[in-house]
Amino acid sequence: MKQHAEADNHPVCLSYSDLSVWCFKCENYVIHQCLDAVKLAAYQTKFHQPPPTLTVSHLPDAASSSSSSAQN
Ligand SMILES: [Zn+2]
Repeated sequence: MKQHAEADNHPVCLSYSDLSVWCFKCENYVIHQCLDAVKLAAYQTKFHQPPPTLTVSHLPDAASSSSSSAQN
């Protein structure tokens, strides 16, 4: 989803309430590691302190793939 930043006419909105990034074009949330820095900056701008839960860990995606896999 990195191309979202360079995509044509994809208006995205960063919600300051929950720090989620919404794309009006895709009508879906935009989740990408490159947005973590933006969210972090937004949080610090809002609360003037580092976020307690939004930790930028720089861990590979594979690290979180083993957690809670819902099986139907
Ligand atoms: Zn989009």
